[in-house]
Amino acid sequence: MRHPLNDTELHPIRVLVVDDEPAILDAYRELLCPATNAESEARKDSLEDLRARLFPRAGAPRAAPPAPPTRTRFRVEAASSAEAAVEAVRQAIASGAPFAVVFLDMRMPPGRDGAWAAAEIRAMDENVSICLCSAYSDVDTEELSARIPPEDKFFFLAKPFHPQEVRQMALALGHKWRAEQRIAQLAYYDSLTGLPNRAQFRDRMRACLENAQRHGKTMALLYIDLDNFKRINDTLGHTAGDELLRVVADRLRATVRKSDDFIHVNASRQRGNDCARLGGDEFMALLPEVMSPGEAGLIADRLIKALSQSVLLGETECTVTPSIGVAMYPQDGQDAESLLRHADLAMYAAKRAAPGTFVFYDEKMNAGAVAQLEMESRLRNAIANNELSLHYQPQFDLHTGRISSVEALLRWHSPELGLVPPLSFIPLAEATGLILSIGEWVLRAACHQAQRWLADGLPLGRIAVNVSPVQFAQKEFVELVAAVLADTGLPASSLELEITESLVMKDEAWAYQVTRRLKTLGVALAIDDFGTGYSSFGRLKDYPVDRLKIDKSFVTRPGGDSAEDSAIVAAMISMAKTMGLSVVAEGVEDFSQLLFLQEQHCELGQGFLLSSPLTSGEAEQFLRRMHDADGATDAERRSRLGS
Ligand code: C2E
Ligand code: MG
Ligand code: MG
Repeated sequence: MRHPLNDTELHPIRVLVVDDEPAILDAYRELLCPATNAESEARKDSLEDLRARLFPRAGAPRAAPPAPPTRTRFRVEAASSAEAAVEAVRQAIASGAPFAVVFLDMRMPPGRDGAWAAAEIRAMDENVSICLCSAYSDVDTEELSARIPPEDKFFFLAKPFHPQEVRQMALALGHKWRAEQRIAQLAYYDSLTGLPNRAQFRDRMRACLENAQRHGKTMALLYIDLDNFKRINDTLGHTAGDELLRVVADRLRATVRKSDDFIHVNASRQRGNDCARLGGDEFMALLPEVMSPGEAGLIADRLIKALSQSVLLGETECTVTPSIGVAMYPQDGQDAESLLRHADLAMYAAKRAAPGTFVFYDEKMNAGAVAQLEMESRLRNAIANNELSLHYQPQFDLHTGRISSVEALLRWHSPELGLVPPLSFIPLAEATGLILSIGEWVLRAACHQAQRWLADGLPLGRIAVNVSPVQFAQKEFVELVAAVLADTGLPASSLELEITESLVMKDEAWAYQVTRRLKTLGVALAIDDFGTGYSSFGRLKDYPVDRLKIDKSFVTRPGGDSAEDSAIVAAMISMAKTMGLSVVAEGVEDFSQLLFLQEQHCELGQGFLLSSPLTSGEAEQFLRRMHDADGATDAERRSRLGS
């Protein structure tokens, strides 16, 4: 059975031989790339002669032994002077096929000598093994070894040498070079796309930055992230996702390589290392020779066009667009870390503003991100430092004027940031997962407070607690609610949880299951901010919810009433009624709104007109006043609403 070809068979080892005598170059070639039998018979005589000149030994000249049967193949290139050797190495690197071994004659008059070429070659290529060949004993090997490190890649061969010595040396050094390349490939390249990985890219950036610093150059860094890549993975599977990443990598490589054409740079360098895959669907491109943001923008634009071309994955034609952030050296950062961070921030800005576009880094982005980080670290300690509190906003029955419930609203008093409104920190708490501990704290504090007020005989109705979608998605959410009720002694019927439409829509099956289980506990459920999401009345009828809270944006309109909003509110109220749901109008701010709602027979209302959110002390006084007025008639209470 034949094993799959490995790269020993596929790719010959590249060897450069350098000597000023053409016959010696031929002999090297013959040794490393033996001709076929027929050819070798024909050339046998002349080769005997050459070998004798190159490899004389004491005693009679003899034929070189036949090359051993090995599958290792060499590709030999020859140069006849030190200068030509240096040029050959430079070209090999530029073409992406560097040499593994160089055999270098020490003396090649009238040109430069082998020691000079060795030092030049080492400066360009730190991986190649260099064998310096000399017939003279005047070479100071120690001094040269020290001058041309590393020691394990620099050798001396005394002429005349045995033919096998050359071949075995080429074999051993060639295999060592290959093994090192393979290790480097694993450590420094992404195995899926073959692009440099993050580690190599960082090294490359540092080298480019040093160079740019030294020569006062400008450069650009592009941070590229695919939009909706997850969707491809989820719908077409990981194999398709991997294929897409490979195509993106090829297109990225090709575009960056081609960028030389239109920014008119010296294209002698190898450009393959200027792109990288950082992981997932994130890529980078480095443009070390870019002169201005304008040029960087031109390349970003070309990249977007190239990457947005459709890709055939199996039978499905897909299109993904990239969002790109651009950071420029020196203006956007002096070191690799800050340039990477700033390009990343710019990429996020592009994604937020308009996916499939590019955005340049701007200092304000950093200020925003730093502020977020600071807020996050402060929020982390907010519970422990007692910085959270609850305000309570009563909700009224618009016909009887009684309190139907009290909504607990979270407040954060940060010593450094002052009073932070919930809409400024809740999204951050949700994104970081902090909402789980914060949400549990709110639930406990609200239930505890409500239980005390009820025990005092205050007319609280229910306590309403807002639930984040992140909490709701937790497997243990229902158990948590049950445990808090048990711990605080609050009857389940006195608790109402406010969930949002978007939460129900996200995963309908899960929402259905959790709402059922919560109902089984005996808890009331309200859909908060109704009208701002996408749920339809038709869908809602499947869920065991008790109430809809019409979002305040429909109820409160700055600058006067809108006939359209009034019509929507009226329709919501009447449809909810036909479904047996009660309706709360949020954001009741003035009498005309209150009257309108009463005319529409809206059952419940909440808003600044009726009562602002109150501290616990204020809420308690408010509840006591309501309690003391318990003897009043509905009409009396109703007339006091909003006064
Ligand atoms: P929400 O649940 O819809 O709460 C009502 C918001 O409207 C409150 O803002 C309240 O102060 C405000 N409001 C009350 N009456 C009026 C009015 O007449 N006009 C206007 N324009 N606004 C009025 P707040 O306290 O700033 O809370 C904002 C949002 O933050 C809440 O909206 C809720 O979504 C969220 N939130 C508050 N506390 C919590 C919490 O403990 N957990 C979670 N997950 N979210 C909370
Ligand atoms: Mg609410
Ligand atoms: Mg609301």
